[in-house]
Amino acid sequence: MSDLDDLYQEIILDHNRRPRNYRPMTGATHHADGHNPLCGDEVTVFLHVDGDVITDITFDGQGCAISKASASLMTTRIKGRSLGYARELLDEVRTMMTGREEEQPDLEKLGDLAALAGVRKFAVRVKCATLPWHTLEAALAGQQRVTTEEE
Ligand code: ZN
Repeated sequence: MSDLDDLYQEIILDHNRRPRNYRPMTGATHHADGHNPLCGDEVTVFLHVDGDVITDITFDGQGCAISKASASLMTTRIKGRSLGYARELLDEVRTMMTGREEEQPDLEKLGDLAALAGVRKFAVRVKCATLPWHTLEAALAGQQRVTTEEE
C-alpha cells in the first residue's frame, strides 16, 4: 500500500469515527432522504440555502463507514459555498466514482474527497460513496426521496 493510500484510508476512518455536521437541522430550506438498498445505508441531507449560498448543510441517518465518511466530507466541502460550486463538485465526484478512464477527475478540486476513489475497486461500495451526493442533488431539485436502485 502506498503512503497516499494510507492517507486516504486515514481520512475515511477519521470522518467515520468523528463525522462532521452529523445532526438533523431544524428550519432546513431543502432536505431529502437517500436509500442504498444494496448496503442498507440511509442518509438524510439537510440544507439551508440563502440566495445562492449554502449557509449550512448537515446529515443524519445510519450507514456504513464509506457512506458516513462520504457524507461528512461532503458537508465540510460545501458548507458556506455557492450552489454552482456544489454542482461542480458533484460532477467531479461522479466522474471520479463512475466515469470512464478517459475522463480524468480534477484531483485538485476534489482534495480530501479523492480519498473516496479507493472504493471504485469495489463496485458494490461505489453506491455507498455516491449516496450522499445523489441525496444532495435530490434535495436541491426539490425531491424528497432518492434511491440508488434507479441508476
Ligand atoms: Zn454502504
